[in-house]
Amino acid sequence: MPVVVVVTGTVQKQAWEDKVLPPVEQVRPGLWSIPVPIPDNPLRYVLVYALELDGGGIAIVDAGWNTDEAWGSLNAGLAAAGGSTADVEAILVTHIHPDHYGLAGRVREASGAWIGLHPKDAVMLESRYGDTDALLEAMLHFLTDSGVPEEKLPDLARASMSIKSMVTMAEPDVLFEDRKEIELPGWRLRTIWTPGHSPGHVCFYSADRRLLLSGDHVLPRITPNISVHAQQFSNPLGDYLESLAKVRELGADEVLPGHEYRFADLQGRIDEVTAHHAERLEEIVEVIRDHPGSSGWEITLRLHWSRPWDDYEPFMQRQANGETLAHCVLLELHGRVRRGGEAPFRYFLVDQ
Ligand SMILES: [Zn+2]
Ligand SMILES: [Zn+2]
Repeated sequence: MPVVVVVTGTVQKQAWEDKVLPPVEQVRPGLWSIPVPIPDNPLRYVLVYALELDGGGIAIVDAGWNTDEAWGSLNAGLAAAGGSTADVEAILVTHIHPDHYGLAGRVREASGAWIGLHPKDAVMLESRYGDTDALLEAMLHFLTDSGVPEEKLPDLARASMSIKSMVTMAEPDVLFEDRKEIELPGWRLRTIWTPGHSPGHVCFYSADRRLLLSGDHVLPRITPNISVHAQQFSNPLGDYLESLAKVRELGADEVLPGHEYRFADLQGRIDEVTAHHAERLEEIVEVIRDHPGSSGWEITLRLHWSRPWDDYEPFMQRQANGETLAHCVLLELHGRVRRGGEAPFRYFLVDQ
């Protein structure tokens, strides 16, 4: 696929290629990007944005993992931006994932800031990061239904449990409904609810500065994981594609993503991501045509992945399986494939 993305975070991009952490950067007057490392993860870091507020406070968008290293990086980054953690008044979280939400509670403890999150993600906090027994049980069923072989079930079902320690359990103080105006001294942001990657994912849009803080919704190089799983809406890929269309028409000169590097040409990037999923849908139709009656897991194993399958950790394999199923659900809704059998479900082309 041709690369059309227009990179504006050129220093970040160079750092990505050099495999080093990018520097803390002033993106605009009063707006900073702070890379916070993610341990043992191909994403390497999350970009936390610090917004200077009139009167001396700071709002941050996303927070990083709850590890001491991440905490140190966030504090050092805020200091480089001329502030400190104690100055933080608001923590705007794009979604529930630990790389964005993990440190929110610790920052609130240190500063008294309020935490904002979309209600669809807020309702999952307890089952994900508190008492996880029911979620684990649901995940086992779900993986069985999708055809994951028995010997792989325990690893795949438990794959995300270790990240519980990377999150401080913190209920949000403010719920971000769709198109909520967030009034901060010197800043006017609007939430754009963008379900897909997570049911309660939101982007933050500044109309006067023509900026989109996109979280994981739109990234310059990779596409976010869009998975069917035990805690998702029934058609996450359909939701995601609609959410892409929803932000496509916003006037944004620059996109500030949660990972990788800043970029321009939001529309071009969205078209590219949309085309990627269209290609993936066709690839899955081909697999089902050649191997009718495949389970979701069997389809997953027959698709092309960017790395050799056995190099993927169980968590990545589970995400890949969930992503295949998200495409299968959409194909079913389009009337192109049908699902038969049970535990595991099997996919067939609809005769045309
Ligand atoms: Zn995420
Ligand atoms: Zn992320």
